[in-house]
Amino acid sequence: MLRAAVDYHQQMEQLPGLGLPVGSLWCIGRNYAEHARELGNAVPQAPVVFLKPASSLAGDGATVAWPADIGAVHHEVELVVAIGRGGSGIPRETALAHVAGYAVGIDLTARDQQAKAKAAGLPWTEAKGRDGFAPLSRFVPAAAVADPAALTLTLRVDGALRQEGRAADMLWDIPSLIAYLSERFTLRPGDAIFTGTPPGVGPLSPGNRVEAELGPGLARLTLTIAR
Ligand code: ZN
Repeated sequence: MLRAAVDYHQQMEQLPGLGLPVGSLWCIGRNYAEHARELGNAVPQAPVVFLKPASSLAGDGATVAWPADIGAVHHEVELVVAIGRGGSGIPRETALAHVAGYAVGIDLTARDQQAKAKAAGLPWTEAKGRDGFAPLSRFVPAAAVADPAALTLTLRVDGALRQEGRAADMLWDIPSLIAYLSERFTLRPGDAIFTGTPPGVGPLSPGNRVEAELGPGLARLTLTIAR
């Protein structure tokens, strides 16, 4: 069965809170050593980069659905960085001047499909890119965040704490990610970077209510998994 999880007319056209058009969704894998280990992956020597389609975005309060035959779908809470000023070859030292804002997002992942793709040496797009697989809170303007390394993340499922992380624990911090990406790809205003997930990922079930927070107290995201 194939069905759209987000009605076409509810597709997100702007990054919430920033008024920037939705650009590319860059995603970083294995950016917290403890999460790499929990999935049995080596800690990488360079950032792992993949993309989600813009159509996978969903806003705060969304209900997300997927067909049962895709197997387990895991939550990955992530700090999301919006690019306000584009560029290529951006030096690490000035990278934060390109950031428009920060949000909390969830990189929903069809884990069984991803495992099959990994084993076959195939891309992860089907496991990562379905409609609704990139829920996103409103962005907090960068000017309101004095030190992005001090940001924290939490994710609760039906009230129980499942994931907790600190931006300070990233293997590649935000300036390093912007420098790495922009050395290889031109970043454009409205691009968003999902910066990887801390440990504690796990499966979601129909009817679950998921709450994610960008701390301390900056942004919240709620999500319901359709029954
Ligand atoms: Zn992720």
